[in-house]
Amino acid sequence: MTFRATILTLYPDMFPGPLGHSLAGRALAEAKWTLDAINIRDSATDRHRTVDDTPAGGGAGMVLRADVVARALDAIADGRPVLAMTPRGRPLTQRRVRDLAAGPGAIVLCGRFEGFDERLFEARAIEEVAIGDYVLSGGEMAALVLLDACVRLLPGVMGAASSGDEESFESGLLEYPHYTRPNEWEGRTIPDVLRSGDHAKVAAWRKRRAEDDTRLRRPDLWERHVGARVGRPLARSDEEGRS
Ligand code: SAH
Repeated sequence: MTFRATILTLYPDMFPGPLGHSLAGRALAEAKWTLDAINIRDSATDRHRTVDDTPAGGGAGMVLRADVVARALDAIADGRPVLAMTPRGRPLTQRRVRDLAAGPGAIVLCGRFEGFDERLFEARAIEEVAIGDYVLSGGEMAALVLLDACVRLLPGVMGAASSGDEESFESGLLEYPHYTRPNEWEGRTIPDVLRSGDHAKVAAWRKRRAEDDTRLRRPDLWERHVGARVGRPLARSDEEGRS
């Protein structure tokens, strides 16, 4: 089964863009996934090919018309999940990315201006997705982010098959930090344990750093990680020596 991405956008020329390079680009060339970008404007019906109108209730900007976007969507809907990029959506997570990557692909709606007429989301099964708590000028770059995260998980896309599992967020933790040669740089050396050849010690150091860094940098992730240990109360070793 090939992962198929279809983008609905006012700027189809922005695709594949960065996804035409590096791992994703090679996988695209090898047909390990496919990408179609469709211009929403092709679904406009008037002489001027209008896709937007002024906001009801007044205010700045323009709003994408529900009827035009729905027409574009209905012409291609085929059971794949439909995602709309919007800062009002549910924040994207590695878990959602992994589920999407395991499926048939996605249809992705890219907003512009003030976004979509809300009735679109009432009338169609559309998952509203945000890539972070900040505002972009359009959904295209958000769609590129979403697809990049999915495509690197597709079978045969990443070099070392194992490099997915230990990554940040996969375990609910940030990943441990990395080092490479030279061993000494500007007076700083690589932690001895990583050069010890003792695999058990290396694993223990990495686990500890993943936990410590998550606790310090992302207390929100850490809370969830600790809470997810199947209802077990904090173990003594968690309370002692770590705060
Ligand atoms: N008026 C909207 C912002 C519109 S930004 C609001 O305040 O909620 C224009 C388009 O950029 C959006 O329709 C959406 O497709 C995209 N966009 C902006 N920020 C985004 C984010 N954090 N995540 C996903 N898409 C985003």
